[in-house]
Order: sequence, then structure tokens, then C-alpha cells
Amino acid sequence: MKNIIFIAAPAAGKGTQAELLEKKYHLNKISTGDLLREEVKTGSELGKKIHDMQVKGVLVDDSIVIPVLEKRIEKDNKGEGFIFDGFPRNINQAEKLDDILEKLNNKINYVFHLDVDYDTAMKRSCGRLQCKKCGKIYSKYLDALKPKTDGICDDCGNEIYQRSDDNEETFKERYNTYVATTEPLIKYYKDKNLLYKIDSGKSIKEVFSSIENIIGK
Ligand SMILES: [Zn+2]
Repeated sequence: MKNIIFIAAPAAGKGTQAELLEKKYHLNKISTGDLLREEVKTGSELGKKIHDMQVKGVLVDDSIVIPVLEKRIEKDNKGEGFIFDGFPRNINQAEKLDDILEKLNNKINYVFHLDVDYDTAMKRSCGRLQCKKCGKIYSKYLDALKPKTDGICDDCGNEIYQRSDDNEETFKERYNTYVATTEPLIKYYKDKNLLYKIDSGKSIKEVFSSIENIIGK
């Protein structure tokens, strides 16, 4: 089995890489966000509890997330392996995940650290421009996504504007939080010789090819 964790910088393209891996190696992708939503839908006692917490805006903590995750891993433990998306986020979760897998005679095999330097990540995330009329997306920074004429939509000739939700200030905070929270996790998996650092400033194809070379084609 191949059990894989991603630790990814903002704008590292984790979603895309996870999807490519899932298809090529027939893995089960587990996103804790999706798991919680599914549990709510079943109408179980646990699902009702989760729903109540979400309605109140309370963070669904490890005492709930972990049993839900465990149930799911038990159910699919005979497959080719798992990709964990958005989990673990801290050392406690990482240790719990190791325990769950060990009970099932299973373990984590690869931890891919998709690293992107601040500048590249910022340029990918910020400076998004959009046409007022047709909604086409452009970028202030990325050459491939720049309009032919400044401020004018290539397709319909109308004005393009900067979307207010992706400003640099907010991005900086997100990036710094990523660095601070992932540092202990990176060390945890490095000590176990499971960590593979991958430069995700490269193209989608190049990043995936690095991953394939590590897992084996
Ligand atoms: Zn347009």
C-alpha cells in the first residue's frame, strides 16, 4: 500500500497533485472536511454533534475528527492506499494517525513537502484580475495570464479590475501561518525518514514527475 501525506505551501498546487496521484495509483483520497460533511449527512449521533458544532461556529476538534477518520480508514483499508488531504495539521494528529494505521498493520509511506518560496507563492495567489463584463481571469504577475493590453480584456474589450479578496497582506499572514504550523510536522516526518521535499515552484508536470520518481512508476 502507498499511504501519502502532503504538507503544502499556499499555492503549491496540492489539490492538482493529489488528484493526479489518486488517478495514477488508484488511491483513496481522504479529506477531513469531506468526511465531516458525509458524517453529518448520515444523520448519526456523531453527525448530529458535528452539525451542532458547525452551526454554533465551534471548531470541530480532534476528539471528533479522529474517530471519523478512523472509521473511514478501517472501511477502505484493503485498497491501494490513502492520500491524506488537510490532515494531520499538528503533532497530536500525526501521532494519532500513526496509531490508527499501526492497529491495521499499515503505515505512512511518503510525506511530500510541496515547498514554494514566498515570492513565487505570492505571485501565484495575488494580483488576480477579472474582466467586469465576461468574468475572464487575468494576472498582474504571471506572464501567461497577463492581458495583451493593460487593463483591457482580450476577449471582449471591457475593463478588467483587481479582485479585492486576494491582497498581499492577507497572503503574507497565510504564508507565515503555514511556515509556523508546519515546522514541527516537517521535523516529525524527517526524523522518521519519510519526508520528501519537492520544489513546487515548477510546472504541474515537473512536480508530478518528481513525485513519480520517488514512488516508482
Ligand atoms: Zn471580458
